[in-house]
Amino acid sequence: MKAMRIHAPMQFGVEEIPDPVPGTGDLLLSVEACGLCGSDLRTLRSGHSRITFPWTLGHEICGTVAGTGPGYTGPWKPGDRLSVGPLAYNPADPFCIEGRHELSANVREIGQAWPGGLADRVVIPRASVEMGNILPTPEGLDPVHATVAEPASSVIHAQERARITLGDTVLIIGAGPIGCLHTAVARARGAHRIIVTDLVAERLALAEAFEPDAVIDSSRRELADVLPDLTGGRMPDVVITAAPAPAAQIAAVELARKGGRVVFFGGLPHGNSTPGIDTNLIHYKNLDVIGISIFAPRHFRLALAMIESGRIPADKLVTHTLPLARFNEGAQLALDGRALKVVFKP
Ligand SMILES: [Zn+2]
Repeated sequence: MKAMRIHAPMQFGVEEIPDPVPGTGDLLLSVEACGLCGSDLRTLRSGHSRITFPWTLGHEICGTVAGTGPGYTGPWKPGDRLSVGPLAYNPADPFCIEGRHELSANVREIGQAWPGGLADRVVIPRASVEMGNILPTPEGLDPVHATVAEPASSVIHAQERARITLGDTVLIIGAGPIGCLHTAVARARGAHRIIVTDLVAERLALAEAFEPDAVIDSSRRELADVLPDLTGGRMPDVVITAAPAPAAQIAAVELARKGGRVVFFGGLPHGNSTPGIDTNLIHYKNLDVIGISIFAPRHFRLALAMIESGRIPADKLVTHTLPLARFNEGAQLALDGRALKVVFKP
């Protein structure tokens, strides 16, 4: 089959590799669409501690069942179209029993622990099949749009933790695909005013499709000067960092109102994750600082439902759909920041 393969940082392409064989209890999917994630871009640029090259990336997967491994007992049969939440949790972990799957030990991910979906076919391991993180793709939903359920799940998780609700003014730092998803989800949760900021004018222009109430080009204007006017002097109730930048975290703590909530969504690069945050601001402003990564199965269910209903406009997020054979061209568009979301179809 054809698959995307990375051999070293910035050395990748589509190659012929042997067909994957499903093991005991596994599912074999014929991939219909697979999105390229911000974390995939990081791996393309600089590799990944949990990945040994050569490797096939891709964890935002929609496909149809093409076969099953020996002893398979799951509910899906050949021809079923499935959306794959790529995380396999440890079901015996006490955190899973509490419903906080994202905290369980040894969470493994398709595209890291197992080869990914940027290929003609992908094996869905038994561990994923058994954790209830795989759902039928809603009838009539384009598989390309269904792939957005994976990044949307983490965004829904973050806003659940930040309790975004009616009347909130939300500042989102970073206008990439994650910032756009935060805009859509904050709107659906009833946020009063949503402000998006970025250093790159092209990215802000792409984010306008999500209809934020205001955008600020922070390369031209100081946020601290503009925000009082946009918030009636109150400053944002919630600030979300949707950029892997230490400066975003510093700004978030400075800009949140007293008693506000700060969400660190974007992780920071290894070796550069101790920004000089003035923690007295957290102390004296009584801030809630919320860290979040990954998601639980319930967030994936909700994400797929919100895409089906149009509350998350996946059609606006996916700016480029390309055949997998043109992977390098699509990857370059995303690496250069000229695309919001790029999705590949084998
Ligand atoms: Zn992703």
